Amino acid sequence: MLQLRPNCECCDRDLVPDAAGAMICTFECTFCRDCAETRFAGVCPNCGGGLVARPVRPTALLARAPGSPERVLKSHQACI
Ligand SMILES: [Zn+2]
Ligand SMILES: [Zn+2]
Repeated sequence: MLQLRPNCECCDRDLVPDAAGAMICTFECTFCRDCAETRFAGVCPNCGGGLVARPVRPTALLARAPGSPERVLKSHQACI
């Protein structure tokens, strides 16, 4: 199951699990679409893998399968 991290690890914008707009890599490094496209050109700055759209988890399922509450924030060269 995906962790569904709650924020962009570059700009710290909230990324809710039941709406589109989050991009992830294979390790689930998580970015907003703006950062993924404008800052990283679709490539994860941590692992070098591609960033793809994170699947939306239907709202009704979040009660028993909630997203991760743990915010991850890192400083990447392109974020500063
Ligand atoms: Zn961002
Ligand atoms: Zn990554």
